[in-house]
Amino acid sequence: MNLHEFQGKDLLNANGVAIQRGIVASSASEAKIAAHNLNTQTGTEWFVVKAQVHAGGRGKGGGIKLAKSYDEVFEISKNILGMNLITPQTPPEGKPVNQVLIAEDVYYPGESKISEFYVSVLLDRSTCKNIIMYSTEGGMDIESVAEKTPELIYTEIIDPKIGILPFQARKVAFNLGLSGNAFKEMMKFITSLYNAYIKSDASLFEINPVLKTSDNKIIAVDSKVSIDDNSLFRQKEISNLRDFREENPIEVEANNAGLSYVDLDGNVGCMVNGAGLAMATMDLIKQAGGDPANFLDVGGTADSSRVETAFKLILKDVNVKAILVNIFGGIVRCDRVAEGIVKAFTNLKDSINVPIIVRLQGTNSDKAKKIIDSSGLNVISAIGFQEAAEKVNKAIN
Ligand code: GDP
Ligand code: MN
Repeated sequence: MNLHEFQGKDLLNANGVAIQRGIVASSASEAKIAAHNLNTQTGTEWFVVKAQVHAGGRGKGGGIKLAKSYDEVFEISKNILGMNLITPQTPPEGKPVNQVLIAEDVYYPGESKISEFYVSVLLDRSTCKNIIMYSTEGGMDIESVAEKTPELIYTEIIDPKIGILPFQARKVAFNLGLSGNAFKEMMKFITSLYNAYIKSDASLFEINPVLKTSDNKIIAVDSKVSIDDNSLFRQKEISNLRDFREENPIEVEANNAGLSYVDLDGNVGCMVNGAGLAMATMDLIKQAGGDPANFLDVGGTADSSRVETAFKLILKDVNVKAILVNIFGGIVRCDRVAEGIVKAFTNLKDSINVPIIVRLQGTNSDKAKKIIDSSGLNVISAIGFQEAAEKVNKAIN
């Protein structure tokens, strides 16, 4: 689950990480009021209007603008709130902006002593540890820094059993070339940031840029926060921050139905039980020359109502040209699944306008094949895995 910049910053702030302060708004007039309130709180006279969408690169896409008066806050917010923001990280058609963050201007004009850093905390699956990745080259996109000047990206491995140690925080501050008060501020920043990451069960905190202000404060100007979905049951406060408008509607619906579904770009809908088999099925479709439209694990109990829900979800994707059902009957018997498929298919007859290829293997698979073949429905049965994938591709072409 991803957070908006303003939500991520609230989380950081609550954990002692210094941030660029701001107030979120959903309309231009709210934005203007927010600017007045922010002026009262911080004394800032210039404001940054920042589009709140789940995508980076907003600056380049025109989603971040400096406003030098309250009227400008109003005008700029009006434009940004009405726009479909396109950045390298959004889908090609862009993302609608529902909210803007009115933030204090922290790049005091005429100052040359500011520096922008890059800092992230993430889970490194290869070492089973957390790492802090950081660079002096903040403010720009880190992928191009990694490509052109990889020596300017540092990593510090943190043992999750021990946590961050003072010498590690010192090393970060040192490598970023800091001294004096900024050095101490960075130590505090890094330590609080790491602790906030742990406490919130995050899988990624990316702060780009981290700013050293002209008066040697270290603050988070941006925030990208991803929380591990598996922890949401114990992160109630965070899970309430979920903005479903930012998520794929079919994925949200699947999630509510207890199905694990991931939308993909291809045209072969997949209905599979078990995540491993689902991955293998997608591989095989690819290998046979097709392209999966989704990942869908219907789970161990593939009864008719789940199968029906799954069909409905798959058919919502207009790109789907054929559906491959690949179920292994272990705990659940194949004939039961076959009955479920026939029932679901009969209920949905009018909305199913693509060929369906069914492969049922495992307990009672012969019986299952008979049920499918004698159902009179437009369902193609297959025994072999490869055979199924080939039949799908033949059905499409
Ligand atoms: P991103 O483009 O989505 O990564 O959004 P960021 O929050 O990182 O902002 C992009 C850029 O906007 C930053 O790198 C800064 O150059 C600029 N920016 C952000 N806050 C301020 C500010 O307070 N004052 C000024 N003048 N520029 C800012
Ligand atoms: Mn950024």
